[in-house]
Amino acid sequence: MTDPTRPTRLPPQATDAGERMQQYPPPETWDDWVEWDQREWPRKVPRRYMLVPTVCFNCESACGLLGWVDKETMQVRKFEGNPAHPGSRGRNCAKGPATINQVNDPDRILYPMKRAGARGEGRWVRVSWEEALKDIGGRIRRALVEGRHDEVMYHVGRPGHDGLMEWILPAWGLDGHNSHTNICSAGARAGYAFWMGFDRPSPDHANANVILLISSHLETGHYFNPHAQRIVEGQMAGAKLIVFDTRLSNTASRADTWISPWPGSEAAILLAIANHLISTNRFDREFVRKWVNWEEYLRAVHPASPLTFEAFVTVLKTLYAKYTFELAARESGVDARILEGIADDVAGCGGKLAAHNWRSAAAGNLGGWQVARCLWFLSVLTGSIGVEGGTSANAWDKWVPRPHKLAPHVKRWNGLTWPAEYPLSYFEMSFLLPHFLKEGRGKLDVYFTRVYNPMWTNPDGFTWLEVLRDESKIGLHVALTPTWSETAWWADYVLPMGHASERHDLMSQETHAGQWIAFRQPVRRVALERMGRKADRTYEANPGQVWEETEFWVDLSWEIDPDGSLGVRHYFESPYRPGERITMDEYFGWMFENSVPGLPEAAAKEGSTPLAYMRKYGAFEIRAGAEAEFQRALSPEEAAAAQIDPRTGILYTTAPAPPPKNIVPTPAPAATELGRPIGVLIDGSPRFGFRTPSRRLEFYSATVAEYGWPEVAIPEYVRSHVHPDSVDRSANEFVLLSTYRLPTLIHTRSANAKWLVEISHSNPTWMHTSDAKRLSVVNGDLVRVSTEIGWFVDKVWVTEGIRPGVIACSHHLGRWRLAEGEGVSRAASALVELNESGGQWDLRQRRGVGPYKSSDPDTERIWWTDAGVHQNLTFPVQPDPVSGSHCWHQKVKVSKADPQDRYGDVHVDTVKSHEVFRRWLSMTRPPTGEWRRPNWMLRPFRPDVQAYRRTPPPK
Ligand code: SF4
Repeated sequence: MTDPTRPTRLPPQATDAGERMQQYPPPETWDDWVEWDQREWPRKVPRRYMLVPTVCFNCESACGLLGWVDKETMQVRKFEGNPAHPGSRGRNCAKGPATINQVNDPDRILYPMKRAGARGEGRWVRVSWEEALKDIGGRIRRALVEGRHDEVMYHVGRPGHDGLMEWILPAWGLDGHNSHTNICSAGARAGYAFWMGFDRPSPDHANANVILLISSHLETGHYFNPHAQRIVEGQMAGAKLIVFDTRLSNTASRADTWISPWPGSEAAILLAIANHLISTNRFDREFVRKWVNWEEYLRAVHPASPLTFEAFVTVLKTLYAKYTFELAARESGVDARILEGIADDVAGCGGKLAAHNWRSAAAGNLGGWQVARCLWFLSVLTGSIGVEGGTSANAWDKWVPRPHKLAPHVKRWNGLTWPAEYPLSYFEMSFLLPHFLKEGRGKLDVYFTRVYNPMWTNPDGFTWLEVLRDESKIGLHVALTPTWSETAWWADYVLPMGHASERHDLMSQETHAGQWIAFRQPVRRVALERMGRKADRTYEANPGQVWEETEFWVDLSWEIDPDGSLGVRHYFESPYRPGERITMDEYFGWMFENSVPGLPEAAAKEGSTPLAYMRKYGAFEIRAGAEAEFQRALSPEEAAAAQIDPRTGILYTTAPAPPPKNIVPTPAPAATELGRPIGVLIDGSPRFGFRTPSRRLEFYSATVAEYGWPEVAIPEYVRSHVHPDSVDRSANEFVLLSTYRLPTLIHTRSANAKWLVEISHSNPTWMHTSDAKRLSVVNGDLVRVSTEIGWFVDKVWVTEGIRPGVIACSHHLGRWRLAEGEGVSRAASALVELNESGGQWDLRQRRGVGPYKSSDPDTERIWWTDAGVHQNLTFPVQPDPVSGSHCWHQKVKVSKADPQDRYGDVHVDTVKSHEVFRRWLSMTRPPTGEWRRPNWMLRPFRPDVQAYRRTPPPK
């Protein structure tokens, strides 16, 4: 027996968390760790645990967890941090340990269910997994055999895994992936990708001199807990923290400099800072000279100019001279002197600027993608790219292992997700799907929603409902979900998928300067297997018959192609036992053996296999520290064999590319008659360069210009749809910030975590004191917030923490259910009445939250009554014509609630919402050339290059 009071020692992968490791049981004791049972205090009664590492599934950060399995009952008792995880280093946010609530949630779905009555009627029958697989698999098989591939679609909300669907969907021959990206990060992705090919930043906050955040990143940003740790470490080491956030968020309160700009003015501020750097010559001239495509820009836009760097600097000075601090102050409402102070801080960063924008302004505004583009401009000007304390591309800090067998790129193009109007979108135009179906652009025979609740999360949810209930548009809707959701209620199958401790997945995220992978595991299955009780399928070890996607997709693929005649099955056969179904040990074990650098060696040192190593520690650090791919010198052999284009300095090879081990999505600059690009000459030295067409950082994006947007091909300020000039404050018009997240909640699944809902269950509308006075409202008064297509009724929260003229409401709340005892968790949802007539929808809360009897005695102790208000229903779709991002901010009119209004009321006109969709669609500029989309740009599930053609090749 282990003595819990004895000192611990470090595991092999302590990384930089050595001191914290002392606070955790050491890994060699994880199979049999003993703690005194706190409920028996003051007696010392030992309780024995097996600690099994897994990965949190509650946001994209992929922090490590340890599942504590009680060895007597074999139940998971709690979750704590995994100290061996290089990203989270043993720490978690509130949502990590709350996984235990999700596991024990009395309202969770435990068995596969099939619809019994009409769609949405709420009648279900329990079915076996075999029955569900047979039915769904048979239907997909028919679609494939009949050439209706585009009628099968997989639509993901929370992915929570790397590389899995790249294995599955191409093997079925589909271009059928859909995502939530366009309601989330499309704007930021586009802004970054037009510069460098990769679509995400990876800041090294811990080593920065200046940290510049656009959003409430410290509390709710992308990679929130791992980033928060390092932002605070950076600040404690002396870094200056600058935050742009219209609300006084927790992040703002932690900042050295916080500004509250008018929403949509952020790019104007960033360009004023850029202008300051350029006009005062406080930028990294050498970095810009070497790595920016200024020659290409001068050739394309200033052909008469000398082709010299000095000429470019002169042009640059002229271009940005208009972005004065005074202009930025007028646009943003922030004092010019404060902006100048920020610019001075950035200028003094010494090449160590860690900067980040993900959702926030980039996801809120028309032209929001230019916010990320202008922010990266500052990283470029300060030479802060890929260096310690700077900002890297995500892919340099991420590793996605390659599975044993991948299908070739499919030769299809799915116009429902990649419509002609959005050639530059990042990525699938997911939130327009119901409008496309309404317009008759296609139909779906089998539609999977996977941990996705579009009816509630997306804008224009009632248009989703209209389509989801229509069997002529969606033949079979399969909801793969751990919990009930508003969307799952309208499914034909509801198939329970596991939480963080009930599934296998691989994860790797760019949480800091380094590279790691982590292994999510079905904790109870692993514990049982360690005790000698083998499970064939994960649902045998999970609560009820809750399953996991990876095994589900393997079995479904065999069901689609039982005899192998469709050419699907062989992708799902064991790499070790030809012709046999692949197991989870084999799928993951093969990747750990063959596709993770350093892991086999680390495992061998411990006398273990790579799979056993990952099952034991749950994570592996591939590299620590920043490593800039673009700086890598080509080997003398590579350089000697390459051909150089004298005009561009790009090096080409005719040698075939070896299959990559790291299959992180990567831009693919086109081959030319000289071959495949592999590098670029920088001052005569052959370097890898960036994965852009110019092989450099693209200040000027020829791609953007060629695809119809020359006026925004360089970093520019685009006036938002909520620019102050379009908001008549005298008529009580406001800008509604609808995007902000609460640190304690997840989009959909926190409804099933009682601790989280107890902390956060209300989303009042923030309003500045001066506006409240003008409207004669006080805290708690009801207001009607009217959008272009409807309205919602909410309580007001009067505060100085928001800019006058702007209101804010968190999107996390407002969950609802249609039946008394079923559907979304009763701890978090209101029971509602829903009425519709000719596209006029009304939702009214019949009852809020209250105590109820269940298998969990805590549900009888519920003291809160509020479920919040569902604002997203009232938002029309507003797709940015370039990035495809939904522009979340709304121009709204606020009035005191009408006498007949009640808290939580929602009214929507979906006829009008379709008109708004048509109006925004008319802003697009579809391509006129040979290609649907630039082939070099990132595209998940990239099809074969021939599928990109919109016209036959020129003769
Ligand atoms: S930040 Fe919180 S919710 Fe996200 S993975 Fe980490 S612990 Fe889980």
